[in-house]
Amino acid sequence: MSISEIITIPNPLLRKISQPIENVDEEVVTLVNNLKKTLYFHKNCVGIAAVQTGVLKRIVVTDVSQSFKEHKNNGPIVMINPQIVYSSGKLSSREGCLSVPDFLGQVERKKKIEVEYLDLNEKKQILKTSGFEAIAIQHEIDHLNGKIFLDRVTSLKTDLFRRKR
Ligand code: ZN
Repeated sequence: MSISEIITIPNPLLRKISQPIENVDEEVVTLVNNLKKTLYFHKNCVGIAAVQTGVLKRIVVTDVSQSFKEHKNNGPIVMINPQIVYSSGKLSSREGCLSVPDFLGQVERKKKIEVEYLDLNEKKQILKTSGFEAIAIQHEIDHLNGKIFLDRVTSLKTDLFRRKR
């Protein structure tokens, strides 16, 4: 396992569509392990998508258990080819991103989601979640589609905040 370097805006890879995984092979497992290691290396990081390490594959890892301890959550989740199949409600929160190091943004997302994905055993899973975990998953799935949270900020004037270092 190794910590991968994070690509940041305006790297054009962040705007590309990631490709679906066909087989969960050794390469995928290694990639997932590196993503996990990279996620935990960055304090306060709650999710990472493979593209953020320069790999255009539809893999997402989230873990909100450290940052949002008090909220119900599922701990570490590895999602291969994730797809939101149902969503409802609205929830606005301040988001950050390793690939957008200088800013935080107020973003509105769905409050509850149902996401379908493959686990590392190529088994189809359906996860129902809400709140911060749902936000983290939506944020990461956006990356797979070449989107970043800046695209969802309503006003660059009032909803974008420079991050304090
Ligand atoms: Zn991000």
